[in-house]
Amino acid sequence: MRHRDPAWNPATGAAGAGLPRVAWGKGAFVYDSAGRRYLDGSGGPAVFCLGHGHEEVNAAITRQLERIAHGYRYSFTSDPLEELEALITAAAGPAYGAMVMVSGGSEAVESALKIALQYHSARGEPSRRRFIARRRSWHGNTLGALAVSDFLARRAPFEGALVEASFVPSVNAYRPPAGVAPAALAAHAAAELEAEILALGPARVAAFIFEPVVGAAGGAVPAPPGYAAAVRAVCDRHGVLLIADEVMCGSGRCGSWRALAHDGVEPDLFAIAKGLAGGYLPLGAAVYHRRVAEVIDRVHGGPLTGHTFTGHTAACAAGVAVQTIVRRERLVERVAADGPRLLAALAAELGGIEAVGDIRGRGFFAGIEFVADRATRRPFAPELGLAGRVGRAALAAGLICYPLSGNVDGVQGDAVLIAPPFNATAAELEELVALLGGAVRTALAGLAR
Ligand code: PMP
Repeated sequence: MRHRDPAWNPATGAAGAGLPRVAWGKGAFVYDSAGRRYLDGSGGPAVFCLGHGHEEVNAAITRQLERIAHGYRYSFTSDPLEELEALITAAAGPAYGAMVMVSGGSEAVESALKIALQYHSARGEPSRRRFIARRRSWHGNTLGALAVSDFLARRAPFEGALVEASFVPSVNAYRPPAGVAPAALAAHAAAELEAEILALGPARVAAFIFEPVVGAAGGAVPAPPGYAAAVRAVCDRHGVLLIADEVMCGSGRCGSWRALAHDGVEPDLFAIAKGLAGGYLPLGAAVYHRRVAEVIDRVHGGPLTGHTFTGHTAACAAGVAVQTIVRRERLVERVAADGPRLLAALAAELGGIEAVGDIRGRGFFAGIEFVADRATRRPFAPELGLAGRVGRAALAAGLICYPLSGNVDGVQGDAVLIAPPFNATAAELEELVALLGGAVRTALAGLAR
């Protein structure tokens, strides 16, 4: 695929030349080495839930570093590790006391996949090796996570070396399959999953993995109401584990700490990362249900996965500080309350633009999808590179957003993600919406030239 954008290619994720040089950040703002200010409207890739330069978080990390950076997991446990585990269980629910700490989203997904395999082996069903995922989803860049991802441009150079996975269609209320009414979409999609499980043979299927709200590959696409419960039931019928990839949409981003709590569904495993330590240090976790823990603990003594930096002490201290603030300041509740206002403000600013086809999302996780034709929902020609243009125009205007492309069929489609800090002020959110409106208009005007 041709590298269309010198600064940032939303299709491949390849960064190019010409990026500004980051200098420092405070709250919702980032400053580059030339002194230019940027409003961080997407928290990078939905990471910086407390914004930048939070003194309490920095102080907690510094305090930990002054004592010791890391107590290696085979030699020690630590207060930050155990406090973070307790905070995660308190936020996720009492069923989720077991987890493997890692250093990011891909490792969290990779660990969840491995724990699912381990569970089936421990139960005496080692034939359950196959993962089922969805089209238009992204789970990470390590080989296992990439194997279950359907982000064409990011997969293509590695095809042939990826573990075989099965894919069911994406589930997007804005782009339903022909002849499926919106109210029937959840049941339709769950039936597709069940058909795939039956076609493979349930005894071969380890787990179904999906993003409760699709991020980088879709543009904040929430599953339709009833979908999560329906796939939960399908998985239960066939002994298939349900893995929620909440790396982007979880940790409070969508207005409930676990994204799937919104649907009243408990997955067997879920992956978290980005917002867990808010980008202050690399941190993620694969969290699993007590019914999974009971089996693998009994047979193997614990999860057979982990890394040198699993439970990294300073990273856990960052996670404790971030999650303590999120909890104390009731920021998830705030995201839940203010999310609809953010979507309404985006709709007021952008809804009148003919090329804006859909404005969607949940909490502080919003997606704007662009279409060349509103009536048919036809996307723009990929050669136009509209998402990249929006991203560049935004950056030039002092706004960081997250442009993405290929969301319609892997090649076509342009969208932009918005994911502000949970503690952004009303004025900052207003500025974000206005700057985005300007960037979208500039980018569209650029198409005409
Ligand atoms: N899962 C999802 C849903 C993601 O959005 C991402 C990152 N964009 C990942 C996994 C991989 O996370 P990381 O980049 O931290 O490895």
